[in-house]
Amino acid sequence: MLMKGKKGVVLGVANAKSIAYGIAKSCVEQGAKVAFTYLNEALEKRVRPLAKELGSEDYVYPCDVANPGEIKALFESLKKDFGELDFIVHSIAFAPKESLSGRFYDISKGAFDIAMGISVYSLIEITRELKPLLSKNSSILTLTYYGGVKYIPNYNLMGIAKSALEMTTKYLAEDLGKDGIRVNAISSGPIKTLASAGIGDFRFMLKWNAAHAPLKQNVSIEDVGNSGMYLLSDLSKAVTGEIHYVDNGFNIMGMPSVKTIDNKTKISWNGEE
Ligand code: NAD
Repeated sequence: MLMKGKKGVVLGVANAKSIAYGIAKSCVEQGAKVAFTYLNEALEKRVRPLAKELGSEDYVYPCDVANPGEIKALFESLKKDFGELDFIVHSIAFAPKESLSGRFYDISKGAFDIAMGISVYSLIEITRELKPLLSKNSSILTLTYYGGVKYIPNYNLMGIAKSALEMTTKYLAEDLGKDGIRVNAISSGPIKTLASAGIGDFRFMLKWNAAHAPLKQNVSIEDVGNSGMYLLSDLSKAVTGEIHYVDNGFNIMGMPSVKTIDNKTKISWNGEE
């Protein structure tokens, strides 16, 4: 029971395939009490049964991070129902679909502002607004992707947002360290979810990752959930500002091995043994 006695809020559950759900489930299994938020009424219908299943039916609140009033209302609800928080999970991202494929230089200013606001600034705002509830020795976790570090086809605008999110994680970690608050990010390998469905050629991305990662498979929300729980627990109490890869090792590869190319992707080449 690594999370026994800990209370936290998880933002970003859309359905049972969400990475946020995997993290929440792992925390509850380890004894945590978790509050949930939902983006809109359509998703509320999905989130409530999942919260109930995890023993949190009374702790489900609206929170569209584009609406500062809803963040302030979330603070009031959590203050009333939880009093104090030991962890926050920020598992939220959005970019207009047209900015997740095609020519990079076609990205509009409007799409850029939306993606940066929802996917990056929201981490700063949520942290600031909920900070009065955070206990000494608390932990904040966000979710990023390798496309914020290296070029990934079609990831386009979200790559820029993830890059900014990773630096935001580090600056927040330094700033909040003096308050005993840790801030980390998990860089997850690709997983089929509502959000990833918007990325062009996503199925190829899954295939490519499984073929070339050292562990030769894709990650699950349970894999990310368990690693997330570790970063929220006291097991990681000396870890902050970290971008922790949960990707079956994909990010260490400089070049796929010739054998993998031949056997798994059927990409032909003219090299010699
Ligand atoms: P998901 O669709 O299940 O979760 C994304 C969540 O963002 C949804 O719950 C959605 O309601 C929420 N959201 C969007 N706009 C919002 C707003 N204005 N206010 C509040 N919430 C809003 O998909 P997911 O893949 O679980 O994504 C969670 C996080 O993981 C994202 O940051 C995503 O970029 C990141 N990530 C995903 C993958 C992947 O392959 N699925 C890989 C690495 C990182």
